[in-house]
Amino acid sequence: MAYSYEAPVSQSLFDRASVVTPGGVNSPVRAFRAVGGTPRFMVSGTGPYLTDADGREYVDLVCSWGPMILGHSHPEVIAAVQEAVSRGTSFGTPGEGEVALAEEIVARIEPVEQVRLVSSGTEATMSAIRLARGFTGRAKVVKFAGCYHGHVDALLAAAGSGVATFGLPDTPGVTGATAGDTVVLPYNDLDAVRAAFAAHPGEIACVITEASPGNMGVVPPADGFNAGLKELCAANGALYISDEVMTGFRTSKAGWYGVDGVRPDLMTFGKVMGGGFPAAAFGGRGDVMAHLAPAGPVYQAGTLSGNPVATAAGLAQLRLLDDAAYAKIDAVSAELRSLVGDALTKEGVAHTVSAASNMFSVFFTDEPVRDYEDAKKQDVFRFTAFFHAMLEQGVYLPPSAFESWFVSTAHDERPVERIAAALPAAARAAAEATA
Ligand code: PLP
Repeated sequence: MAYSYEAPVSQSLFDRASVVTPGGVNSPVRAFRAVGGTPRFMVSGTGPYLTDADGREYVDLVCSWGPMILGHSHPEVIAAVQEAVSRGTSFGTPGEGEVALAEEIVARIEPVEQVRLVSSGTEATMSAIRLARGFTGRAKVVKFAGCYHGHVDALLAAAGSGVATFGLPDTPGVTGATAGDTVVLPYNDLDAVRAAFAAHPGEIACVITEASPGNMGVVPPADGFNAGLKELCAANGALYISDEVMTGFRTSKAGWYGVDGVRPDLMTFGKVMGGGFPAAAFGGRGDVMAHLAPAGPVYQAGTLSGNPVATAAGLAQLRLLDDAAYAKIDAVSAELRSLVGDALTKEGVAHTVSAASNMFSVFFTDEPVRDYEDAKKQDVFRFTAFFHAMLEQGVYLPPSAFESWFVSTAHDERPVERIAAALPAAARAAAEATA
């Protein structure tokens, strides 16, 4: 596919990057391989906008894949970071900032009695399943196809996000022994979970699920699915782990737990709670968390865990996320969903706008999408045309049909008008696209 617009500075940076970094990027989906064209190298972000190295401004609907829920360079977050930096960047000792951030998480999310801070969502899920295995003395982990929990060896099988974007089979480098302890099931299928417990009695340490998946596109849990998981785990002596790295502090003040009220044994967090810095966490039942070193025998550690700059950014961001902020994000998400849906309908493009609270994505199919197999049946080539038409008009979407779109409190009237103005041509491009 040829693109009618160019990005010469981004292209030359990408050429340089490709010499010294595999594929030219530090995280695969950023490379635009699923959509083609030149990945945009961004130099700055303000509110709902990003500016690339060629000086072009975009309305940002990626928000750094979720964290930037107040928009870019929020003055109060920047001030908190500057204040923290002025006192030093890392001490390798406990500090008050990490206590305050842990208190904020525990106060917001009732099932979290204790929490351990880490530096990435991957570390959070990796540590949570180690803890679940240590606590139960069992080896097997159940996960769902299309759910992404970071690049933890045991959790990469049939993963969403970049693994879905590139249609990768199992990843080389993950040993058979590791993969053999992972049971992958179709999403939204409680019968499959029942059958797995029956097939592996006394062997399953935990079931891990995205609280509401956003890594195969947005596919919310069917009514009663999370509650059913919780029940089956309890009945079979396994832990129910809800991965809220994406939904946490985004889909409500208390994340997806605030939406469905199903009480997990363990939860994982990241993205929003770091305010744009590397901070993440896992937490939950006090008796389970008590098994973690140094309180208990399950080892887990990190040189930069609870970093003072990252915790200052996260805490400043969380403190600004009150009911009014969530009402604003929910409203702008609803408005964009209807604008996108109307534009595609007008051009006769088969589509489903799928939402979970304020997270949403567009599937280019009008068949219901309940799991990863359904998601893969969409017309991805229509998304590609839609994506490039939006990019050309200055709207930055996730460069994959299998990712959630994100909005922030900074997405007010002006950026929404710009998106609305770009949609008719993008919908036309999707309608005219051929496989
Ligand atoms: N879990 C979920 C639900 C995610 O969406 C992600 C990242 O997108 C992760 C875990 C991994 O987080 P990180 O990229 O910070 O390692």
